[in-house]
Amino acid sequence: MQILKDRIRKDGVIKSGDVLKVDRFLNHQMDVELFTEIGKELKRRFSDCEINKILTIEASGIGIACIVAQSFGCPVVFAKKNKTKNIAGEVYTSKVESFTHGRVYDIIVSKEFLGPGDKVLLIDDFLANGKALEGLIDLVNESGAELVGAGIVIEKGFQRGGDAIRSKGVRLESLAIVESMDEKTGEIVFRD
Ligand code: 5GP
Repeated sequence: MQILKDRIRKDGVIKSGDVLKVDRFLNHQMDVELFTEIGKELKRRFSDCEINKILTIEASGIGIACIVAQSFGCPVVFAKKNKTKNIAGEVYTSKVESFTHGRVYDIIVSKEFLGPGDKVLLIDDFLANGKALEGLIDLVNESGAELVGAGIVIEKGFQRGGDAIRSKGVRLESLAIVESMDEKTGEIVFRD
């Protein structure tokens, strides 16, 4: 998606530890017009699919998922990062190792909002090692819903998540795939 790649080149900041900061337009300040274009593009890529629910993970996936959901005309459910114990029964749970914070946390979704009959598209801002998506896939599988695919805004193609998710047979559409990025020169190379 060319306007997204141009925006990453213009406003993305490469940090140490293979982190790309896109706070200026994606996950702190949010460019809603760009999100609308992202929604249209994902709708185009998944036009052959029936989707009745979008699932994302708090926090930075939520804003994007809401705008994307307008293109699909369906509700958004976000997995919560759980802080309380003794939650078994009413919720689906999985564990996710955070890329940015390096710790493991539980994620939950209420059984009320996901279940058999749902056709689910996963949405997230970044794909790095794939742990967030794997956690969401676990929740979908646990619920008995059908996983249609995953739409990612920025995939870091030099990390292992893309291969791991695709090798599970999940249909993965990433709108910009960063092949390499250089903290010193600021150069970003995208996959075609
Ligand atoms: P994964 O679980 O695929 O390793 O990492 C995905 C999650 O980590 C995303 O939900 C995103 O919030 C965060 N993340 C991973 N890499 C980056 C990055 O380079 N920049 C930012 N801003 N967030 C990232």
